[in-house]
Amino acid sequence: MLNDKGLLLIISGFSGAGKGTIINGLINKYRDRYTLSISATTRGPREGEVEGISYFFKTKDEFTTMIENDELIEYANYVDNYYGTPKKYVDESLESGKNVILEIEIQGALQVKEMYPQAVSIFIMPPSAQILIKRLLERGTEDLQTIKKRMTRAQKEGMRAKYYDYLIINDDLQQSIDSVDRIIRCEHMKCKRNFDLIDSINKEVYELTRGD
Ligand code: 5GP
Repeated sequence: MLNDKGLLLIISGFSGAGKGTIINGLINKYRDRYTLSISATTRGPREGEVEGISYFFKTKDEFTTMIENDELIEYANYVDNYYGTPKKYVDESLESGKNVILEIEIQGALQVKEMYPQAVSIFIMPPSAQILIKRLLERGTEDLQTIKKRMTRAQKEGMRAKYYDYLIINDDLQQSIDSVDRIIRCEHMKCKRNFDLIDSINKEVYELTRGD
């Protein structure tokens, strides 16, 4: 059997590129194969966001304590707030065989790639800058000043998209969801993830042909 150990999947992209919608679609469609890591943040909850489901909402002091206690895989500052990935859930989910999704920005993504070199990283871009602004304005969750800061940040992050393994242009939600799933299925088939299987088949072949 091909290696079905859980993979760590990093998904980054501009605010408004549609990462969250793609991830929700992926998890709804393939609930048994994917799980989302819930981050800790010092950002305040948006309307409709729920503690422990959207984020673990923390004060700056609480967040600092998590850093000091080595409870985070990575953390970063993004537009005036801290965001970080709690270690325990990620490790437990990978152990249980699930593909764990980290929806994180680029500084965190690069830290994770160093700690978990076998992680797969995907950068999501919108089809155009106009569509990005339109999505951010329509979402209506941030004031204009924050949207501007997020656009400036997007511009910087875009320059580093080339450090990622895969690029998805999100102009069709269903296609983007399927693309992420296809990437993960192919990653499971990589020879470098299946050395044990290759060795065991080679051994069987050797045993069968030994007398020839
Ligand atoms: P938002 O405020 O829109 O929910 O998230 C802002 C940015 O922080 C997004 O780019 C999101 O991917 C990123 N982010 C969310 N959680 C984490 C995390 O745990 N670590 C890092 N490094 N970035 C995160």
